[in-house]
Amino acid sequence: MTESGAPSYPFLDLGLVNAPLAAELEAAALRVIRSGRFIGGPEVEAFERELSAGCGASTAIGVSNGLDALRLIFKALVILGRLKPGDEVIVPANTYIASVLAVTDAGLTPVFADPSLSTLNLDAAGLLKAMTPRTRAVLTVHLYGRAAWDSEMEEIAREHNLIVVEDNAQAIGATDPRGVTTGAIGHAAAFSFYPTKNIGALGDAGAVTLRESDPELERTIRALANYGSHKRYVNEFQGYNCRLDPLQAAMLRVKLPMLPQENERRNTLARVYLENITNPAIILPTLPESGTHVWHQFVIRTVEPAMRDALRSYLDSRGVGTDIHYPTPPHRQPCYAPAYGHLHLPVADLLAASVLSLPVSSCTTPEDARAISAILNDFKASEK
Ligand SMILES: *Cc1c(COP(=O)(O)O)cnc(C)c1O
Repeated sequence: MTESGAPSYPFLDLGLVNAPLAAELEAAALRVIRSGRFIGGPEVEAFERELSAGCGASTAIGVSNGLDALRLIFKALVILGRLKPGDEVIVPANTYIASVLAVTDAGLTPVFADPSLSTLNLDAAGLLKAMTPRTRAVLTVHLYGRAAWDSEMEEIAREHNLIVVEDNAQAIGATDPRGVTTGAIGHAAAFSFYPTKNIGALGDAGAVTLRESDPELERTIRALANYGSHKRYVNEFQGYNCRLDPLQAAMLRVKLPMLPQENERRNTLARVYLENITNPAIILPTLPESGTHVWHQFVIRTVEPAMRDALRSYLDSRGVGTDIHYPTPPHRQPCYAPAYGHLHLPVADLLAASVLSLPVSSCTTPEDARAISAILNDFKASEK
């Protein structure tokens, strides 16, 4: 309840999200505490098997977080000579900064592709437009929970011999129009289990999956995540410490089996919003014609970009929590603007100015989503 006694609709409350699982999480934590095994070991190995089986990948490697998962993939591809410093990697211009950080960290060149206004993701047209003779890879980002791949993009990647990497931080459990599950679409995929994701750890956690068995790539990524070492005190590469904690693996093993029901719950909320929001000042997200969306975020736009902030404060005054994913595209961030700020990426700029994310966490019920829709329908575009 708000101070005025009106109901309030939090955007996300991680305490509430995890409360129903408290007993199971505590039991799993106790299991790890009593095991005496705090780095690697059976919890991490079991989680890796469960994750790869769940998405239809051949291999999963537990790592420290989503950014490290991406960094390890690109760094390993460079070490193995499959990519060379300076090679171009296409990346959607409206992604979260981590996607781009991983590309530049490996000495590769990001080429920003403007996303599609209908899917808010990279599509075949955007991919083709961003291609140059130096393009060697594409980092597709399944933003907001929608798979950003299809047979047309697969055809382009195959024809041009591109390495396909997925940023699957937001779309665990989604399928592309061909029915392929995210994490088994590209050659390698990065997962984040940051606490706010559809499956969230109780801290930082992530994973890499490989669609097909690739012992050389797997071995290099595992070594890089462990100081560049396979064998104690023998360092083959200048590596990092990017391992997944057994404690977080145990938390994730409690949550992973709930993924289908979690994604179904999000789909129910999305349907309620799609059926009930009728305000002509608001543009709703589109549903994929085939494949499944997992609604990590339910992102609306204001027809007038300048109205977005007014809509956000209006919703706040009615007790509806919202967020913006993301207010500034990576190429305009201070760390990249000197090199890329001049680029003309009108769709990414339009999205940054006009997107607004509505609540879809387990704190929100379908009744709440109906009430939030009614509040949105009462918004007058003239209100300031
Ligand atoms: C969350 C996120 C990441 C980074 O994951 P961390 O675990 O927070 O490092 C990368 N890409 C996208 C699209 C994300 O949403």
